Amino acid sequence: MKVHMQILIALGLGIKRNWHIFFGIIAGILVGIYLHGHYNTLIANLLTFVGQVFIRLIQMVVIPLVVSAIIIGITSIGDNKQLGKFGTKMVLYYGIITTIAVVIGGALALLIKPGLGAAHYITEHTAASVQASVQTAMTQQQGNILNLFLGFIPSNPLQSFAAGDMVPIIVFVVIFAIALARVGDVNRPIVSFFESVFAATMKITDWIMFFAAPGVFALTASAVSSFGIDIFMSISKYLGVLLIGFAIQMFIVYPLFLKFFSKVSAAMLFSAIAEAMMVAFGTASSSATLPLTIACCEKRGISHKISSFVLPLGATLNFDGTALLQTVAVIFLAQAYGVVLTPFLVIQIGLLAIIASSTCAGIPGAGLITIALILNGMGLSPEQLVAGFAFLFTIERITDMFRTLLNVTSDAVVTAAIADNENEINYDLLNNPAAYEEIA
Ligand code: ASP
Repeated sequence: MKVHMQILIALGLGIKRNWHIFFGIIAGILVGIYLHGHYNTLIANLLTFVGQVFIRLIQMVVIPLVVSAIIIGITSIGDNKQLGKFGTKMVLYYGIITTIAVVIGGALALLIKPGLGAAHYITEHTAASVQASVQTAMTQQQGNILNLFLGFIPSNPLQSFAAGDMVPIIVFVVIFAIALARVGDVNRPIVSFFESVFAATMKITDWIMFFAAPGVFALTASAVSSFGIDIFMSISKYLGVLLIGFAIQMFIVYPLFLKFFSKVSAAMLFSAIAEAMMVAFGTASSSATLPLTIACCEKRGISHKISSFVLPLGATLNFDGTALLQTVAVIFLAQAYGVVLTPFLVIQIGLLAIIASSTCAGIPGAGLITIALILNGMGLSPEQLVAGFAFLFTIERITDMFRTLLNVTSDAVVTAAIADNENEINYDLLNNPAAYEEIA
């Protein structure tokens, strides 16, 4: 059977199993479109409230889950050589997938040229208030790129925990876990402590998922109501390029990647992580989706040893959907403002998109903030920069939902490929959606 048919069937299986979340998304889109034309403050506030309850509940378990998963994962891998092998492979796979995303985004944007003639539209359609807040965001981003990397090393890990800064947290926990693995049997009390923490947080995730359908419904409805459907008409070329790029990455690149590097069928994997994909779309946050991504992978055949290590790192470092968007967006603005796109500049944009995306956080909107890193070196006038950036903000949420869907899916794709390479997949389970354990 053709790959795309298999994928459609698998998505269908996923939908059947999780129809409540899926219908939450559909109902959210419909209600959002209606509300766009019939604004009602009470309903809008109610939707925001319900959506935030869901996001906050799921965020509540992220830090204990990530910490315990990484500690258990790394200490169970044990020896340093194997860990080094996993680590290298993980960086390589994530790097390949992000580079392909950037190439696809760049090629499509250069070919279709969505930005030609858009300058006029950008200036007319971006509100002054948005422009002012964008100016502040951009000033914060300016400065030395090296400082950004410096920020990854936590001088005070507790402060990073309190602030919820995922990258420094992960850096600390990975070093701590490697040290624990090195000290031998004395690590038992700590490891078993974190085994209990992990089990309990997974249980809480199960409970939170009872709330997934109303949560995703409310989030989708308030997102759609804020931009309405007319946005699709006005900037259809830009959105069109993005959606084609996202579709190529999802339906061609991921299946080919899995075929090339593993025996995993994309159709089965998509079916296994269907809930995580839908929640990623609804929440636009890889971090918030992480507990669910881990639950889906582990309950459906991918070993704990691999998923507990590769998924949390992916959710903090791998943002291929974001990189694709950043490449398209920057080329779009360059075309709109008549910047000459020399091959050198295009390569610079691509490389910076890989860096900028991987420094972004798995929360809504983060990818658009880090885009400033690329835009600053483009030779646009300050007014053009602000207007262009503000324009991107106007259509932020819709693109965020799609790019987060990709970010989360590619985390699972890389995890599955590594698990396959290490014989850490139970194929009897992964390839049999009928036997999947329900989440919640
Ligand atoms: N919202 C995205 C994520 O959580 C990051 C981004 O803004 O691109 O994966």
